[in-house]
Amino acid sequence: MTLQERDKKHLWHPLTQHKIHPEALPIVKAKGALLYDENGKEYIDGIASWYTAMYGHCNDFVLQRAQEQMQQLDQIVFSGFTHKPAIELSEKLIDILPDNQQKIFFSDNGSTANEVGIKMALQYHFNKGEKRNTIIAFEDGFHGDTFGAMSASGLSVYNGPFEDFFIDVQRIPTPNKENFEYVMKELFEIITTYDVAAFIYEPLVQGANAMHMFEAEYLDQILQVCQGNDIITIADEVMTGFGKTGKNFASEYIETKPDIISMSKALTAGFVPMAITSCTQEIYDAFLDDSVGKAFFHAHTYSANPIACAVAIAGIELLQSKEIQENIQRIITSHQGFNTKIKDHPKVKTTRQKGIIYALDLNVEMDRYGKKRYEIFNHFMQKGIFLRPLGNTIYILAPYVVTEDQLNQVYDSILDLLDTF
Ligand SMILES: *Cc1c(COP(=O)(O)O)cnc(C)c1O
Repeated sequence: MTLQERDKKHLWHPLTQHKIHPEALPIVKAKGALLYDENGKEYIDGIASWYTAMYGHCNDFVLQRAQEQMQQLDQIVFSGFTHKPAIELSEKLIDILPDNQQKIFFSDNGSTANEVGIKMALQYHFNKGEKRNTIIAFEDGFHGDTFGAMSASGLSVYNGPFEDFFIDVQRIPTPNKENFEYVMKELFEIITTYDVAAFIYEPLVQGANAMHMFEAEYLDQILQVCQGNDIITIADEVMTGFGKTGKNFASEYIETKPDIISMSKALTAGFVPMAITSCTQEIYDAFLDDSVGKAFFHAHTYSANPIACAVAIAGIELLQSKEIQENIQRIITSHQGFNTKIKDHPKVKTTRQKGIIYALDLNVEMDRYGKKRYEIFNHFMQKGIFLRPLGNTIYILAPYVVTEDQLNQVYDSILDLLDTF
């Protein structure tokens, strides 16, 4: 039996309607910006495997650190014990996070990082004797698939069976020049009508919402109003974190700093799952008390796994290296060049870029998981390019180690697509 046949026997894939799409492509190897299938065919990983493997797949430097750590300490309960990789990671991370971030809390993935952020915010108010139970979130935001994170996600077209069990969320549109007054009016109305505990948002780029982008200055004013009303601000940097917007964190573009930041995806350089929720000293202090009951009673078995921490430290060192920083600037410039070439193409509706994130909307209507979308996906795969269109949006978020030649192949495959329909 082939791998594909054996896959079908027992495996259930995420975001997959198995009746329509029974086949999954086996990938046997990955290195740098390349993926290899069973037949040795190469694919350029144009989205860094969901923005995780930003320093390249199976990066040798990260691999060596993982190996060293695996031989030293594999796993230890993080409640009552500590270890050097977690301590070192906390120091390195606090160094590059916005100045007001002081404490870091571990979990396993982007959804749980947000879950932790939401629970911290709710308990922050609870511990102060205030009952606040409403969360504000953007329309069409995405924060993950666990219950709290799913409730906050506006992209909930497929959440029908669960909606009756969601936590209370009020939504505002992402702000722009035209709607800004309306957004602020809505915000004030929500704040005066409900007991709002927190505002959760993806700063500047909404990944799952087809790389929708918006301006820092408007978001800044929303954050100011929230913080003026003791509403905890939670920046979901799970997608935007670790250099993708051209700065280490998108929050650096915004004057008002968030109280809480959630991160995952590129945190561990694509090697293993881990997530972190950071917060200010003020949040942390609200959990200090002579009573155990005010502590944050949230744990995951693998919290701060030493191997994951060692890998994350290696990732941050790479992010700060001259080579990666130069690569980021190079990719930004290349995307700008491509954009000049393509933005007025009749088949292109709009284009946008923030840092190394580049997206274009095709001039056709398309369902997010419709037939046309799969045709476009297959067009790229045939050419040895892994891009994952979101409806009529095609976006590039390649690893920082992608070469100019590989980038040009990605650009050419998009130009080819435009000529074929
Ligand atoms: C991917 C993502 C999540 C969810 O992370 P998982 O690791 O898939 O649970 C949350 N927020 C944003 C912005 C993301 O891109």
